[in-house]
Amino acid sequence: MINIEKLHFSYLTGDFHLYISKLNVEKGEKVAVIGPSGSGKTTLLNLIAGIIPVTNGNIRVGETRIDSLNDAQRRDFRIQNIGFVFQDFELLDYLNVIDNILHPFRITRALRLDKDVRERAVALAKNMDIGDKLKRQTNDLSHGEKQRNAICRALLPHPKLILADEATGNLDPENKDRILDLLFQAVDEHEATLLAVTHDHELLKKFDRIVDFRNFQSKEAV
Ligand code: ADP
Ligand code: MG
Repeated sequence: MINIEKLHFSYLTGDFHLYISKLNVEKGEKVAVIGPSGSGKTTLLNLIAGIIPVTNGNIRVGETRIDSLNDAQRRDFRIQNIGFVFQDFELLDYLNVIDNILHPFRITRALRLDKDVRERAVALAKNMDIGDKLKRQTNDLSHGEKQRNAICRALLPHPKLILADEATGNLDPENKDRILDLLFQAVDEHEATLLAVTHDHELLKKFDRIVDFRNFQSKEAV
């Protein structure tokens, strides 16, 4: 599902350098990504999602070479194929819970908002225990509720690939387990693939595999 080869990445500013010689994630795998803060975990997810353009190396998602797409093509590809749960959620403050969940369907023709989608959105929110807060403004949600709102938004289009950036961070242990179980359940139901950055070492045993950033030679010269 994800194939990375000889990926080199640097930002325009700063001396951070990421080098991944090879990384493969199979379809249906649930992979945890761990590593110290600042090691490039979020950067990698952004490269895979096509939010940051690849400048050097190959990234394939399914049959698509992300590194060969232009900005508009990457955006379309992302909307149709990838569910991203951002580290800081990136919910829209001026929208309520249900409108945040439906938002991707309103900003692209690639997704069609119909009755079935609306019903699934409500069901998903119920399943995530925010079904009674559909009309609440995002600003008035707790941290855990915002997290679940962001997860619902990412899952609604049935993405083939789910990228989650510390989706269970700052949650109490009970909620952590539950959210991860719901995420895993969605992955299984739709034969999706999950790549999830986590700092919760007690959750690692639930994943099929762990990718540790300490194994990448982030300092290797191009
Ligand atoms: P992690 O998610 O593992 O904590 P990040 O991928 O967020 O790490 O960041 C990796 C490194 O890249 C850090 O040193 C960070 O400061 C730097 N960095 C992140 N975003 C940018 C940016 N837009 N411009 C320059 N440097 C950045
Ligand atoms: Mg990060």
